[in-house]
Amino acid sequence: MKEKTLRALRETSEEYLSGEGLSNLLGVSRTAVWKAVQSLREEGYDIISQARRGYRLNKIPDLLLPAEIRWGLGTRWLGHQIHYHDTLSSTNILAKELARQGAAEGTLVVTEEQKEGRGRRGRTWYSPRGEGVLFSFILRPALQPTHAPQLTFMAAVAVAETLRREYDLPAGIKWPNDIYIGDRKVAGILTELSAEVDGINFVAMGIGVNVNTRLDSFSPSLRARVTSLLQEKGHPIARVLLLQRLLYSLEREYTALSQEGFAPLRRRWLELDLVLGKKVRIIAPERSFTGRAVNVDEYGALLVQEQEGKGGMRRVLAGDVSLR
Ligand code: ATP
Repeated sequence: MKEKTLRALRETSEEYLSGEGLSNLLGVSRTAVWKAVQSLREEGYDIISQARRGYRLNKIPDLLLPAEIRWGLGTRWLGHQIHYHDTLSSTNILAKELARQGAAEGTLVVTEEQKEGRGRRGRTWYSPRGEGVLFSFILRPALQPTHAPQLTFMAAVAVAETLRREYDLPAGIKWPNDIYIGDRKVAGILTELSAEVDGINFVAMGIGVNVNTRLDSFSPSLRARVTSLLQEKGHPIARVLLLQRLLYSLEREYTALSQEGFAPLRRRWLELDLVLGKKVRIIAPERSFTGRAVNVDEYGALLVQEQEGKGGMRRVLAGDVSLR
């Protein structure tokens, strides 16, 4: 009802729509129309009402509200079920809970701020209110669990290419899960998996993009290593549109991965890679070492040539390590 009212107001946003006109259009009482308008106002929509003229939509709030995300979303299934919360501990925590309860593939969780935003291995992801695009979605891929890292690559390619194509930003990927502009991190991806030996139950994929965050709002220790779209473009970016573009691109890449396999994706990933050929320090719980990153294999593992005299080629799996 609320969304139908909003749609009607949106379609006639230049003019007033009378209460009677709205109630006829929607087939409900004028009181029901009034209630829907009130509840839209509570969400932040600025709706003007004038005696004898009716209602007019004056301003849409800068929030990632489900009705805004759905309006003009070009996907076939991703983001059609939306769970929106003003605040969350972490979108991935809720996505995993929903997935366990049977939520469909493509279910989206969105928030304005995360109190306990996380990166890999429990690291924190700074998620200030109303400034980022913070979301998770549920996938139920027909992949062997050993191939699950391919999904992180899929998401990284989708995010980096969206930033390049739609925002003309020179985004690249730092293996396995971070999106950089130059030497600054602009977005992160967190892939969490529930699997049996022979199959994946579900994947909760979380993505956080720094959108309208000013550098000085990051902690001093992060400030030199991070960036945002605002910082790069010099003006604020419409968050809903960015999210819609990301969802569109993620759905397309995921479909391509399911139909064509990892090889074409890996080739495109390699074009966006920022690490191969470089000296890297691998920080793993059991053993850290330095070497040269030489390739990424068909499972998404990084192949690192340990420094001369100290050993051969090492295969590094995404889940276990950090690259510095
Ligand atoms: P790194 O080598 O940067 O630790 P990682 O892949 O191991 O990479 P992630 O788990 O992806 O790290 O992300 C968490 C890390 O990202 C944090 O430890 C912090 O350094 C950094 N970070 C936290 N919040 C943000 C943010 N909003 N934007 C960019 N970087 C962030």
